[in-house]
Amino acid sequence: METLKQKIIDFAKKDGIDLIGFAAKSRFDGLDERLNPFSIFPEAKTVILIGKRICRGALRGVEEGTNFGDYALFGKNWLEDEFLALSCYNLTNFIESNNYEAVPIFPNPSDLEPSGIPVAPGRPAPNVYPDFDYAAVACGLCTLSYNRIVFSKEFGSRQRFHMILTDAELESSPLLEENVCDGCGKCAAACPLGAISQTETETIEICGKKFTVGKIDYSKCKVCENGAVANRFSPNSAPDRIAALCNRTCMCHLEEDGRLANKFANPFRTGETWQIGSATTTIDRSDEQANVLGGAFSKTGKRGH
Ligand code: SF4
Ligand code: SF4
Repeated sequence: METLKQKIIDFAKKDGIDLIGFAAKSRFDGLDERLNPFSIFPEAKTVILIGKRICRGALRGVEEGTNFGDYALFGKNWLEDEFLALSCYNLTNFIESNNYEAVPIFPNPSDLEPSGIPVAPGRPAPNVYPDFDYAAVACGLCTLSYNRIVFSKEFGSRQRFHMILTDAELESSPLLEENVCDGCGKCAAACPLGAISQTETETIEICGKKFTVGKIDYSKCKVCENGAVANRFSPNSAPDRIAALCNRTCMCHLEEDGRLANKFANPFRTGETWQIGSATTTIDRSDEQANVLGGAFSKTGKRGH
C-alpha cells in the first residue's frame, strides 16, 4: 500500500513543487527555541520543506542591468507570496484530508526580533521564525555554501521554500552527502565591494555536517547596487543576494562545472558583466531607495534597482 509520505510526494509533484524533503523532530534537537519550528507545533513529528525554482530567466534582466523588477516579482515576491504559498496551502489541505494536522510556515528571516512578549512563562516570544537554512539542510535538500546561501543539487541557489509542520510521522530524507559549493572563492572575488572575506571563515554545523562559510560584511551588501535587494521584512536583516553579482557569478561557475542537475543549452553569461562600486569607493545612498517591488525601483530614478 502506498505510504502517506509517497502520497504527499506524488501530490506535491503534480502541484508543480520542484523540491520536497522531510526531517524528523530529532534533527532539530538543540536548535534555539526561537529558530526551532517545533516551538510552533510541539506535538509535530515532521518538518516538510517544499521548494519552487527561481527560473534562470528571472535573473536575466539583472545580469544585463536592464530590468530589476522581473526578479523582484517572479524570482522573489510573487514566487514566495503567490505561487509557492498556494502550493503550500494545497499541500496542507491534502495532509489534513489524510487525517493529520499540517501547519503552513512562511519564510521570514530568522534574525527578525520577536514582535511580542511570551504569552506564558517558558514559552518563546511570538513570533518564532524558524531557521529555513537549517531546515533546508536538515530535510536533505541543500548544503550551505561559502557565500552563506543554501544550494540544492538541482538548482544551486535558485529556489525558495515554504515549510509544513505535521503530526504525521514521516521518514526523514537522507542528508546530502556532497557539498554543492566547491569552495572555489569566485563569489568573493566577484564582489566589487569586498564584502565576502577570502580568508576569514566560520564553521557552521547542521545535523552533524560542517560547512565552511566566508565572513560577510552585510553593511556593504545593504548598499550594494549589483543586484542585491533590501530585506523586505526588516532593513536590519541580511539583504536578498540571489541576484547579486557575487551569486550570479557563482551560478555561472556551478553551471559551467556541471554541478547542477538543471541544465541549459546555452551559458548564462557570455561576455563581460557590469558592476557598480568598488571596495575603495563609497556609494552615495542618501537618496534612500523606495521599497517598491522589493527595492526594484529607486525614488529618484537615478539607478533603477
Ligand atoms: S562561487 Fe565557489 S565558493 Fe562561492 S559559493 Fe559558489 S561554489 Fe562556493
Ligand atoms: S551582495 Fe553585493 S556587496 Fe554583498 S557580497 Fe554580493 S556583490 Fe558583494
